Amino acid sequence: MSKKVLITGGAGFIGANFVHYYYAAHPDDEIVVLDKLTYCGNLENLKELEGKDRYTFVKGDIADKEFVFDLFEKEKFDLVINFAAESHVDNSIAEPGIFVETNVVGTHNLLMACKDFGNHATGESGIRFHHVSTDEVYGDLGDTVGTYFTEETPYDPSSPYSASKAASDVLCRAYFRTYGLPMTISNCSNNYGPYQYPEKLIPRFFVLAKEGKPLPIYGDGKNVRDWLYVEDHCTAIDAIIEKGRLGETYCVGGNSEKQNLEVIQSIIDYTGASEELLTYVEDRKGHDRRYAIDASKIKNELGWEPSVTFEEGMAKTLKWYEDNESWWKDLLKKHGG
Ligand code: NAD
Repeated sequence: MSKKVLITGGAGFIGANFVHYYYAAHPDDEIVVLDKLTYCGNLENLKELEGKDRYTFVKGDIADKEFVFDLFEKEKFDLVINFAAESHVDNSIAEPGIFVETNVVGTHNLLMACKDFGNHATGESGIRFHHVSTDEVYGDLGDTVGTYFTEETPYDPSSPYSASKAASDVLCRAYFRTYGLPMTISNCSNNYGPYQYPEKLIPRFFVLAKEGKPLPIYGDGKNVRDWLYVEDHCTAIDAIIEKGRLGETYCVGGNSEKQNLEVIQSIIDYTGASEELLTYVEDRKGHDRRYAIDASKIKNELGWEPSVTFEEGMAKTLKWYEDNESWWKDLLKKHGG
């Protein structure tokens, strides 16, 4: 049966990749993208879909309850996938309030609307809701080796960003438990790929390396993240929506742990920048040392596994930023950086 799907935050990095993926993978479904177009939201990311049938863009704020309820009243969604968020840890340290507004209040508005409007086609209560979250809710694995986050790991967020995402996750769980809202959550590791705003590690360091500017590395550069190519995240979310058990959380990861220095080295190798640009700067406040995901639940239950290796993903990603210089130059001109 064809569905009307609301994708919030669809003009951002992962959201835009997901919109392109979903549009091609589900040719019977209609997509409405809702995005506030913050500095991270960029309609250029969705340009190819402009004017196509089965695609509409709506500018708006998920933290505005009246706006959200009006949209749900008008559009009659069957499925809501929530990517909309403030997503940059450094910004959350400087200005935490907006993270609570968007990530907590905004997600709660969507949950209320999904509960109250229900499924218009079946008459069942509760619109199917999928919440896109992060492995950062689990906190820090420290300098350990061989330990991993699983769906059972207690939440222990370190930054205002991860705390706001943790709050939104537990609200989703409460809506399942209390109201039976048909929802799922994915907690994913670090994504990389096209359309990522050049404030995050890979595009930022690519731009700096291209421009011959210093490459400022937090602390000793040995913080470890698990990296997942963004298209693999899209297929994981789709598998959860199609086959995931309601009320469940699925951890999604790339089986690809890298120290920040290794990631930066691959950017230096690709761009041919001088190693002398490497500059060690004071560590981020509360900087988590290591994140790593055990993704066996999604593999065993849903048959999902990452399909792109870090080396393949980085080659594609860096080539995309190379080929799309005007995309990042325009953004930096508009927002500074
Ligand atoms: P992003 O910052 O690139 O995009 C976020 C989008 O949300 C932007 O288009 C922005 O305009 C929009 N937005 C922000 N506030 C809004 C509001 N109040 N109302 C409507 N739209 C709003 O982020 P991203 O990296 O694409 O992340 C998407 C989601 O995935 C987030 O929920 C994030 O927590 C999660 N996530 C990200 C990563 C990662 O590595 N980037 C990893 C795991 C999970």
